[in-house]
Amino acid sequence: MMIRVIIGIFALLTSLSAGAANSEALSALDIMTFADSFQCQDKFPHHSFCEAVQFKPWTEQEKAIVGGYLAKINDPRLEGILKTIQKNGITKIHRVSHSARWYNNPQFRRVEFVRSAEKAFLWVNPVTNVIGVTDSFFTGTPFMDPYAKVDRKQINILHELMHDFDIATNHAFSLEVYEKAAGWGYNGKEAVILGVDYNQVKVQFQEVMNLMKEKRVVEAYALDRELGRQYGFPTLYGMTNQFEGFAEVVAYAIFDPTAEQYYSESLKQYLNLVFKN
Ligand SMILES: [Zn+2]
Repeated sequence: MMIRVIIGIFALLTSLSAGAANSEALSALDIMTFADSFQCQDKFPHHSFCEAVQFKPWTEQEKAIVGGYLAKINDPRLEGILKTIQKNGITKIHRVSHSARWYNNPQFRRVEFVRSAEKAFLWVNPVTNVIGVTDSFFTGTPFMDPYAKVDRKQINILHELMHDFDIATNHAFSLEVYEKAAGWGYNGKEAVILGVDYNQVKVQFQEVMNLMKEKRVVEAYALDRELGRQYGFPTLYGMTNQFEGFAEVVAYAIFDPTAEQYYSESLKQYLNLVFKN
């Protein structure tokens, strides 16, 4: 009788801990922290950075929104990537008003920053190692991706975390190995994706940019996706250079269940390598 009771309790405890282990898949929310302030300096990062982007404290509501997206970046394939970011990457997320560009000021021998009109939802600045979530993230037009069935902000956050990972690994997965898988090569004049009409890709991407300028953001995103898929990539934007391509290809591999229908075999093999890191 006593033995039966003990076995019964043991079984219950085992099932509880198994349940807990399942819900504890590593997510981006586990490795990232929200930072409320940032110090700029006379030298680096220069005060012009803080003036350009305008750091501000997070509100509880904003943290809940961004935290919700981070928690959904929990695909088991991302475990190695998240652990690498945790160990060697940027793990603080700052709240900012704007985006910034940087340039060398030779007179003062320092990098300086100016505000950019670009309405990015969030950005990773490889010069200052800051991730910033802008006002646009909360005010920008939502767009439910027709294939991924998630808001593009969800995909955007993973895209930016892939830049974080790329910096943390010193571009180990975004240069030669990615170029080979995606078909980047030299056509005698410039770097292009071989095997597609790259001039046409550039013309089509310009159409996407024109829609953006006209603030037809939803149409721009939809066109970028449709045309990119026809070439075997998630977006045309992901065909503009290796670093953006790398971030796009991984982000859509996770969130777009139809990606395997249009990714090439070489891209799929490449992704296995990235997920094994
Ligand atoms: Zn990017």
